[in-house]
This record gives sequence, C-alpha cells and structure tokens, in this order.
Amino acid sequence: GGISNVSFAFRGNDPVREAIHAVFLERAIAAGLDMGIVNAGQLPVLTDLDPDLRSRVEDLLWNRRADATERLLEIADRAKTSAHAPGADLAWRDLPVDERLAWALVHGIADHVDEDVEEARLLATRPLDVIEGPLMAGMSRVGDLFGSGQMFLPQVVKSARVMKRAVAHLIPYLEAERAEHGARSRGRILLATVKGDVHDIGKNIVGVVLQCNEWEVIDLGVMVHAATILETAQREQVDLVGLSGLITPSLDEMAFVASEFERVGLRIPLLIGGATTSRAHTALRIEPNYSAPVVHVLDASRAVPVASALHDPARREAFAAEVAAEYAIVRREREGEREGELTSLAAARAAAFPIDLDVPVPVPTFTGIRAFDRWSLADLRPRIDWTPFFRTWELSVAYPAILDDPLQGAAARDLWHDANKLLDELVRDESLTARGVVGFWPADAANDDITLDEDAARTTPLTVLHTLRQQGKRLDRRPRVALADFVAPRAAGITDYVGAFAVTTGLGLEPLVAAAKADHDDYRAILLAALADRLAEAFAERLHEEVRTTHWGYAAAEHASMDDLLQERYQGNRPAPGYPACPDHTEKGTLATLLDLEATTGITLTESFAMLPGASVSGWYFWRPEARYFGVGRIGRDQVVDYAARKGWDIATTERWLAPVLGYRRS
Ligand code: SAH
Repeated sequence: GGISNVSFAFRGNDPVREAIHAVFLERAIAAGLDMGIVNAGQLPVLTDLDPDLRSRVEDLLWNRRADATERLLEIADRAKTSAHAPGADLAWRDLPVDERLAWALVHGIADHVDEDVEEARLLATRPLDVIEGPLMAGMSRVGDLFGSGQMFLPQVVKSARVMKRAVAHLIPYLEAERAEHGARSRGRILLATVKGDVHDIGKNIVGVVLQCNEWEVIDLGVMVHAATILETAQREQVDLVGLSGLITPSLDEMAFVASEFERVGLRIPLLIGGATTSRAHTALRIEPNYSAPVVHVLDASRAVPVASALHDPARREAFAAEVAAEYAIVRREREGEREGELTSLAAARAAAFPIDLDVPVPVPTFTGIRAFDRWSLADLRPRIDWTPFFRTWELSVAYPAILDDPLQGAAARDLWHDANKLLDELVRDESLTARGVVGFWPADAANDDITLDEDAARTTPLTVLHTLRQQGKRLDRRPRVALADFVAPRAAGITDYVGAFAVTTGLGLEPLVAAAKADHDDYRAILLAALADRLAEAFAERLHEEVRTTHWGYAAAEHASMDDLLQERYQGNRPAPGYPACPDHTEKGTLATLLDLEATTGITLTESFAMLPGASVSGWYFWRPEARYFGVGRIGRDQVVDYAARKGWDIATTERWLAPVLGYRRS
C-alpha cells in the first residue's frame, strides 16, 4: 500500500532483475499505481516466474526476512545461467493443465494444445467448461495484456491461433452434446471490406482481436456490396457493423452504406476503419448520413474499447453522444475554411513547374509493352522494405532499429523470425507467381493532359492521361504542379517519353491463405498476405531499378543501395494512380488498357479501380530529374469543370471520383 505516482524504468534481461520488476509492478498496480513507464517488451508475465525466485524476490522487496538479500544473491547466479539453458523453456509443461493452457495462450504456443485440451476435457464435466473456464480465462488475460500495452498485435494473433486450435479440438465433443460453443459471446459484429475494395489485412486483424475478446465475428470478406451488408446485418441480428476500406473510392461507398442503413431504418452502430479513413472524413461524409452511432476506429487496438463502449448498455449513450459532439465540432471547424483559399486554374497553370528542356530526352530501348512472366522471388526478397511490414502489425518503429527497440523489440524479433521462415518457404517453392509489365510511349503535354503516341513518328495518338494541378493558395509563389509538367509541352516540339508499369505477387496467394485458415491459423494467413504485399512493393522497386539502368537506361551507371532506393535517391519517379500526385483512381483504367493488364499480368480492376489480387502495384514512370512526388491537394470548381470536359464526364460523376480532393462542398 501507499505507493502512488511511481515510474519505473527497466532494461536488460537479467532474470532476477526482471523478477524484481514484475513483483514490484504487481504490487504497485494492486496499490493503485497512477502511471507507469514500463519496458513491457521484456516484462515477464508474473505467473512465468520460478516460484522459488519469486518468493525470494518478495522476501526482499517486502522485507519479510532478515537474510533476504543473501538468499536472493545465492540464486541470482543460478537463475542467470539456467534462464537460457535449453529445456528451461519447457518448465511450464510441469504446471497444472489449466495453467498450461493459460501459458500457451499468453505465449502463443500451439505445440501442445491438442494434448492439453484433451486432458482438460477429460477432467471437465462438459467440454464447454473447458472453453468457458481455462480458455476464456487465458484469452481474457491476453486481452488485458494487449489492452495495457504489454502484448502486441502479432502476439495476440498467435494467441488467437492457439485458441482456435483448442476450440477446433473440442468441436466434435461440443456437437455431440449439442452445446453451442461461444455461448458466452459478448456480442456479434459483422465485418466487411466495402464494394470495389480488396484489401483485408487490417480487417482480418481486427476480426482476430475482437474474437480474442469474446466477440462473435461474421466476416463477409472483401468487395462486399451494400445490399449484402445490409441483409446480413438484419438476418444475423448483429450488434455492430464494421466497414473497412483502403482506397479513396471506398470512402464514398461507406457513406453510401450508411445512407442505406438509414433508408431502411436500421439502428446498428457503424464502425469505420482502414487506411484512407479518418475521423474527419467520418464526421464530414459518413455520420451525417445515419442517425445511429458512426465511429471512426483508428487501429486494431481501438477496436475492442470502441466495440465494448457501443455495446455496453450502461455506457452506450454517453459514448455515442461524446463521439457525435466531437464530430459536430469537426464539421463546424471545416465550414467556411474551404472556398476562397484556392488559386484559379488559369493562374495555377501560369505557375506550372518549369523543367529544363535543354536536357536531351533519353529514348527507351523499346516502345509499347514488355511482360515479365515469372520474376524470381529470390531476386525480390532483398528489395523488401520492412518498415511498412511492421506497421501492418501496429509495430511502429522503423526497421532495423525496431529489432532492438526496448519496448517492441521482443515482439518484432519474433515476428521477423516467423516472416523470414515463411519467406524461405515461399522463395524455395516459388509458390507465388510474380508477374509484371512495363511500357514506354512517345508523349507530349498540353493543358494538364499527356498525350501518348503509338510510335516516334507520332502519327497515331494512342491515349490521353489526365492530370490534376495544385491550386492551393498556401503554396504562395511556388509552382502549382501537375504531373503533366514533367513531360515536354507540345509547343516545345520535342518528343518526350512516359512509361507505365504494373506488378503483382498475389497470384497463388489465395490457396495458401485458404489452407492456413482451414488449419485455424490466422497468424499464417495474415503473415502470407502481408508478405505478398511486401513482395509486390519490392517488385515495383526492383523493376524500376531495371528500367532506369536497362530498359530505359537513362541511369545506366546507377548504383543505388537499398537505403538510396527507399530515400528515392535516383533519377525519375513512379507515381501511382490514386496517390496524392494523381488522386483520380479511374486513370488506372487507362493504365490497364495501355499495358493490356489482364493478359500480361492477370491483374484485374474492380469497379472502384482497386487492383485484384491485392498484392499488386502500378504507376507511371517519369524520367526527368525534376520529377518528384507531391500532393495535388484541394482543387476548385473551375478545375472540376475543366477536368469533366477533358474526361468526357458530367459534373456529378467528376465530383464523385474527385470527392477526396474537392475544395468546395459538393452539391
Ligand atoms: N517502399 C515502400 C514504398 C511504397 S510507398 C513500400 O514497400 O511500401 C512509395 C510509392 O508510393 C511510390 O513509389 C509511389 O509509387 C507512390 N507514391 C508515394 N507518394 C506519392 C504521391 N505523392 N503521388 C503518387 N504516388 C506516390
């Protein structure tokens, strides 16, 4: 008692010091610790401690014996040498079966789960008791450790794998006695990635985390139409619906789903999540469409608290009111701050980015397209950028520093180890097929459009790329850039070149993921998808390198290190349609036609212009030294009218596709 406002920092892996820390912290928490700065990555779970070590530590800390110091020192050396001795890791196998199950869940060890669950089942009156007793207790411990920042996502997903295996073992017995497993479900949630969108790693992680917290999850997968979401929500009488999306057109689709829920008079709260979603967008575009609660969920660690708050009758209303009030403030702040801040399109064009037209244009080694049918995964592997991989798992320190990070290091190293083992397997079996395609065309620019021609004779215009120009006032005297600025203007009478590419490493992924899921192994399933994404990005990097040094060849002497590549220290760039420099996803349709995408790579586009398989990357190639990434930012009504005419669209269609960058309120 009497401990408050303690902060306690700890480093190192001496088992005695760890034990002191754990025992101290346990008491401090029990006594109402206000705040702790804890090196959670290396904090042993208290039940892991050797009972003898634990009692000697307690003797010392709580001053229970006069000889406590000597007694602790006496075993300190022993603890040090035995801690990492082989076999020591298996000491937990001597615990009683309930504690073994808890241990396996907290540590994510699936090796012995079948035998342990079987032993527990034989001891229990009903098989259901095993779930509701030790398994639920173990998972709830996992939930607490995750909630308090002592466990990280990859560890939780591994725990879920142990849980699923355990439940799978019990299912035949449960069915035999017609019991409903999961009877103790906290609530039922429907998850879906909306129509036109294919990404589901984040959604799957959220699903696993919710399941760990006793939620029953109905996962409708990807590309789910609003009508399906609505029907299922009604039929299954779910308590909550979670919508996920990665690309910007999904933002509009989510707003549509909300309005559909409103139209039929549903009152089920909506959770909004995924890479392009935000609190602001949820407040401005989704929530006004629906009179039941709509809440943006920042990441997987927020999913459980938000779902619980929305589901708990005692807290539901206050929570919803708080969120609604917050969103109302966001909306008010946005009002009035819009129009008037933009330069006119004419003025913006007059301030276009100047390029040096005296630099000779490098002619690619071919025009038209060239496909690469089976790029070796072994060649891609060294080009993987690991930082985004860890971010997928909500481990946010940059690679490689993350591997030594005091807080996230232990979790990161385990994940890294598992990822590399799986990569070994993928590379050895070449079980994912890497296909890519590159094309180059003569080009010139006018009025923010880039015209591509069949060949250098320039007699047959092939297609037109439409680009958008910055109109932000805050840019002051700086240029207002459009991608078209990186191509020689028609008036200059120069034949310039533009390239395009697409790559995928997602072919063959689906059966692997399905097999992992059938094996109750969500950890492997998510790891597979995350690695396929990484390999696709690595492929884009690798192909771009080849293009600069060989196929286009304007940087034949380039010797870029991995670090140079990640820092974009090379000539030219590869902006991707849907990203800030070219936010109109529909231009990917032009790219697909140019590259004969489906035939050359097997990639198809959804109605929202997402690429399928999801582990695909595409973009334009610009060769000029001035070419850089930028954000178009907000655009004015004048540019929307101009763009509509260039695309042959009506204004409503244009505003729909450009919704994320409109600098004014859509009518
Ligand atoms: N190494 C990272 C790279 C992906 S993000 C990974 O493995 O995930 C970088 C890519 O995103 C760029 O190569 C480009 O294709 C795209 N990109 C980034 N910023 C952009 C912008 N402002 N406009 C268009 N594309 C952009």
